[in-house]
Amino acid sequence: MQFRLTPQRMLILKLLKKDTTHPSAEDVYKVAKKNFPNISFKTVYNTLQVLQDNRLIQELIIDRRKKRYCPDPKPHHHIICTECNKVVDVHLKFNTRLNEKRAEGFKITGSKVTFYGVCPECNMTV
Ligand SMILES: [Zn+2]
Ligand SMILES: [Zn+2]
Repeated sequence: MQFRLTPQRMLILKLLKKDTTHPSAEDVYKVAKKNFPNISFKTVYNTLQVLQDNRLIQELIIDRRKKRYCPDPKPHHHIICTECNKVVDVHLKFNTRLNEKRAEGFKITGSKVTFYGVCPECNMTV
């Protein structure tokens, strides 16, 4: 299937690029609705899937309540706040290579590290 960047897809991609909080589909939907009042949640959700399938964004499964989306498709790591579920990027090279013995026969193609912590805003109120 040929991928086309339709105006709606373009908008959702743009909204995501502007947002540094790694929003959920619900969050993207709320903002998208302001531009396309008739857009449905299903459309937003499906668009996020298409963008992810085409490697323009990446889906994060680090928030146990809902999927979050990152506008940067390149491999990087994340910190999630255990209080408010805010997610921020971590750009740092880790030596996460597995030696052959530890890889259990797998051909390793990537790795992601998720840090858990309390963000500065939450830290002040704890
Ligand atoms: Zn990210
Ligand atoms: Zn927080």
